[in-house]
Amino acid sequence: MGNKITIQNDQLNVPNQPIIPVIMGDGIGPDVMRAMRLVLDAAVAQAFGGQKSIEWLEVLAGEAAFARHQEWLPAATLEAIKEHVVAIKGPLTTPIGGGIRSLNVTIRQELDLYACVRPVRYFEGVVSPVKRPQDIDLIIFRENTEDVYSGIEWKSGTPEADKVIEFLRQELGANIRPGSGIGIKPVSAFGTQRLVKKAIEYAIRQHKPSVTLMHKGNIMKYTEGSFKEWGYQTAREYFPETTVSEQEVAEKYGGKIPDGKILIKDRLADSMFQQVLLRPTEYSVIATPNLNGDYISDACAAQVGGLGLAPGANISDHVAVFEATHGTAPKYANKNMANPGSVILSGVMLFDYLGWRSAGQLITDALAKTIQQKIVTYDLERQMNGATKVGTREFAEAIIKNL
Ligand code: NAP
Repeated sequence: MGNKITIQNDQLNVPNQPIIPVIMGDGIGPDVMRAMRLVLDAAVAQAFGGQKSIEWLEVLAGEAAFARHQEWLPAATLEAIKEHVVAIKGPLTTPIGGGIRSLNVTIRQELDLYACVRPVRYFEGVVSPVKRPQDIDLIIFRENTEDVYSGIEWKSGTPEADKVIEFLRQELGANIRPGSGIGIKPVSAFGTQRLVKKAIEYAIRQHKPSVTLMHKGNIMKYTEGSFKEWGYQTAREYFPETTVSEQEVAEKYGGKIPDGKILIKDRLADSMFQQVLLRPTEYSVIATPNLNGDYISDACAAQVGGLGLAPGANISDHVAVFEATHGTAPKYANKNMANPGSVILSGVMLFDYLGWRSAGQLITDALAKTIQQKIVTYDLERQMNGATKVGTREFAEAIIKNL
């Protein structure tokens, strides 16, 4: 009989048998989620000698929800996630029409999951387009609620767009070419601070050496530039004992980072794309506004061999939803072919979040070993020499054997 995770004194209180809501998802979702559950259950059993276990609670979203309730995202599903604090989900089809932009976006907005967290690391044996993929070991904290993703935009030629153009011209003397489409880019101190706080807290907890604020503040001074300023301010205000800025290191410490301090630095977004290719070892935690975060997450994932093994989570102050970063790949649905690596590694992030680090480490090591043994799903097999191609379930079983 499972129990709910609760929040006490701003901390997660995790029982030995937590109830964890799971959205199986659409397309390849059910295949990869079943594999994920097998691996997570086996790792918990092994790590805690039967003392702990997970009680999975299936909740509906996407096609399964629509078939049963004629609703893509039932309110009961969102309630269940809030009530149980964490959840893990498979990919969901974006319904065409019906007024829903995307179920993922709706889940993020409804639960105010303001930090999109994407770790990027290399697994030996995976084919990568760079010479030293093993040098990348990053975690990206992407702001999830603001920036040009706020959805405030008007199509070229509409009365709304014309009205905004006219307002800007008349009231603020800003000239915009008539007939332009208009999008708004809000970036707030509130949104920046809570995101950067999460990134620095993570760096402290995980003993990471630095947090880099990635922005394009030289051009977008009052949005991305302010993101940088507010980011440094957050470090100074909330973490004065544990952080030091690059400027302070140069001016006060003769260029040497004081022992035990986390370096806070900033880089322009364009330069950041060069840095992750040319000097990846100098970067560890990256905090960035929404659009930059979207681009850099996928670019870094490509550097270590693609999205197939890229996990992710969307996190608010406490509530967190862990998910595969790929979509529903409908042509492989129910064929026992898809790579479950992404969602299994999202499960590792879930364990880290619960403080079940030993179970997560077992999985990471076993997954790495399985890939080194060249036992992989079709997507990796077609790129590797002499690999053995297995199905989704068999890949999970191979990982379990290696636990
Ligand atoms: P996709 O589902 O990610 O699939 C694109 C291609 O990526 C697949 O055809 C396959 O490539 C490869 N792929 C993705 N996941 C894989 C896995 N686990 N194992 C092996 N290969 C994998 O992207 P899409 O076709 O653009 O989107 C399909 C649907 O998913 C859309 O409705 C979209 O809205 C939705 N979507 C949902 C999410 C989410 O829920 N988080 C995210 C993205 C997209 P090959 O054919 O080359 O093998």
